[in-house]
Amino acid sequence: MSEFKVKAVSQFINRKDYSTLLRKVDENGAHQPEKLKFFYCVHCGAPVDFDVENAVSISDTCSNCVLLVKRGWMEEAIRNYEGS
Ligand SMILES: [Zn+2]
Repeated sequence: MSEFKVKAVSQFINRKDYSTLLRKVDENGAHQPEKLKFFYCVHCGAPVDFDVENAVSISDTCSNCVLLVKRGWMEEAIRNYEGS
């Protein structure tokens, strides 16, 4: 694996862990004083940009995961996460 790929994959794993915690907080309502609906990346679970007015997500993939998908590294990143 190239150094860049190793970094990208390890950041993906960090995002997954972070997102799991963040989602728990969101589900408890701590970040949703007005019951704002958040949208999450389908790959790592990090919050993605969304259109607040229309409550629709702009993308189902976060900008960091877009790179992994583009380069064909996503499957390997997921395997690494599952093995971690
Ligand atoms: Zn993501």
